[in-house]
Amino acid sequence: MISNQERVDSGHGYLPQTIPGRSPNQELLPLTAKVNSRDCLEIGGCDVTTLVERFGSPLYVLDEVTLRTACKQYREAFARYYPGVALPIYASKAWSCLAVCSIIASEGFGFDVVSGGELYTTLQAGVKGDLIYCHGNNKSAAELELAIAHGCKIIVDNWLELEMLTKLADELSSKPIPIMLRLTPGIECHTHEYIRTGHLDSKFGFDPDGIKEVFAFVLRQANLDCIGLHAHIGSQIFEEQPHEDLAGVMVEWMKQAVDCGLKMRELNLGGGLGIRYTEADDPPSIDEWVKTVSTATIEACNRLGMSLPKLIVEPGRSLIGSACVTAYTVGFRKVVPGIRTYISVDGGMSDNPRPITYQSVYGAAIANRMSAPMVERVTVAGKHCESGDIVIKNALLPETEQGDILVVMATGAYNYSMASNYNRISRPAAILVHEGEANLIIQRETYQDLIRQDCLPTRLTPKLC
Ligand SMILES: *Cc1c(COP(=O)(O)O)cnc(C)c1O
Repeated sequence: MISNQERVDSGHGYLPQTIPGRSPNQELLPLTAKVNSRDCLEIGGCDVTTLVERFGSPLYVLDEVTLRTACKQYREAFARYYPGVALPIYASKAWSCLAVCSIIASEGFGFDVVSGGELYTTLQAGVKGDLIYCHGNNKSAAELELAIAHGCKIIVDNWLELEMLTKLADELSSKPIPIMLRLTPGIECHTHEYIRTGHLDSKFGFDPDGIKEVFAFVLRQANLDCIGLHAHIGSQIFEEQPHEDLAGVMVEWMKQAVDCGLKMRELNLGGGLGIRYTEADDPPSIDEWVKTVSTATIEACNRLGMSLPKLIVEPGRSLIGSACVTAYTVGFRKVVPGIRTYISVDGGMSDNPRPITYQSVYGAAIANRMSAPMVERVTVAGKHCESGDIVIKNALLPETEQGDILVVMATGAYNYSMASNYNRISRPAAILVHEGEANLIIQRETYQDLIRQDCLPTRLTPKLC
């Protein structure tokens, strides 16, 4: 990859450079990205500028090949490195909608959901309950009932939930309810570092110090079938050591559970593999990451004389993040002399809250002039009524003008799913592209959609002129 600086010096524009054998999570653009004869960005065989003309802007453009390739790489890596049964499950909070869920389901994945709404979406996409794992640190009785009714696996987070479940199990289920226990393993990850502590300040999961008591309680509940343990240590992780350590400690706790008499057979190590958002990011490939967790699990099992559990991982970002770009239309340009140049786009924090929430950094290109030299640093501003609504600070771009199509890369994860209607801005449409075909998978919200849930007491009914 050429660095930003080299791109300026060489005078070339942004040209996608997919290197064969790399994982989607190591690419900035979807795998099918090309520059066509009109010098425009093409994804999935579709010209992005034409898509904007047809479907409007802002627009999420999701590439089916990239998403399916990431799924396939997880599957193939487990076949290569893990001799036991393995099940990758999609952390659907990354982007939950019918089309995404049904594509990932067709790739043989299970699903992780964290709310009744995500569970409902996944079920509506045709996923069978026994492939769905339900998370959450404060599940409601209604959410638990829905999960039980569909035979989902429930990842129990705390004592209150255990007690609620034992009651519901008696009322609602003729067979024991399959549960896993979520632990707080004391491994904490930030993007480029991690710490191991005995205790972790986290709202999620049981404290491993009290785990014997939990095991003993669960063992006494004939209506619960405790099938395994779960932990998730963080997100956008580039190091492999934390997951290697995690596999080791989790197998040790599984051994304790088995010694207590529980018939545990599944080990869920969560998600967290990072993706490339800018050229400075260098995450491991899906293959390397799966090799690490598989090898560490096998080694720990051999060391402790345990048979290999069904190994589950929960990728979200690394499955879908790199498969999507967001296309915006460039508007006003404001030069603050000696300080900064702003260019405004027609979206921002309502379609991508990650920059304002996490100070996340993104890369961009101008889709209608891909080979134009990168000549200036500008700040790409959103259109919301917040000074902090900045999409990219100091983006390196060609000279831009009103009407240009600016594409922000790697927006598949935690963009649509975190989108809001702040400032009553409609959420964008999403398009699935594949071999030159473009299908609408999420409609753009209309003004009518924005007031659909509003109610007016009759005495306030406005006189419409
Ligand atoms: C968020 C989350 C994931 C997915 O994390 P990614 O970093 O997107 O892979 C998996 N499991 C749990 C429990 C999560 O909270």
